[in-house]
Amino acid sequence: ARRHISLKESIRSIPDYPKPGIVFRDITTLLSDPRSFRRAVDALVHPYAGGGIKQVAGIEARGFILGGAIAHQLSCGFVPIRKRGKLPHKTVSMAYALEYGTDEIEIHVDAVGPGDRVLLVDDLIATGGTATAAINLLRKIGAEVVAACFVIDLPEIGGAQRLRDMGVDVRTLMEFE
Ligand code: 5GP
Repeated sequence: ARRHISLKESIRSIPDYPKPGIVFRDITTLLSDPRSFRRAVDALVHPYAGGGIKQVAGIEARGFILGGAIAHQLSCGFVPIRKRGKLPHKTVSMAYALEYGTDEIEIHVDAVGPGDRVLLVDDLIATGGTATAAINLLRKIGAEVVAACFVIDLPEIGGAQRLRDMGVDVRTLMEFE
């Protein structure tokens, strides 16, 4: 019988994407492998089972795939955090710094109820800029951001620590340099 690959082996590394010198960690190979997808979702859900999470908030776009599966397994609601201009109802938005320039994410103003316990989900944390903006958005609309989880951490860049300093419990499944 064929040996099963580890979760970390299910990630494909693409050199020089999106630009020279960057190694992109591609999770599509994790998602398309049935065993790896289930293992990743189960491992991300496990710490929060029975933890009273009301809503899972996913960051566009890969956070939608993981967040949807996690919300279903926790019997939670799912709330999308999207790039500017994509959400149809009234939104609040937050700009955040990129390496060059800025970007903006949005959430519906009524996406969560006051004091709702929220778990934030994305595929990877690097600088933490995206997740920090997402946490600020969620707090702005009244959420209690209990935790944030990611498949991949790039710990040398320090994003996970940045979130912990904001009082958020951070869990990740693997690290790359
Ligand atoms: P940060 O804001 O923490 O610097 O960057 C994290 C965001 O950029 C996440 O939304 C993540 O999806 C995306 N991202 C940056 N680098 C990578 C990468 O190598 N692989 C994947 N899958 N996403 C990345």
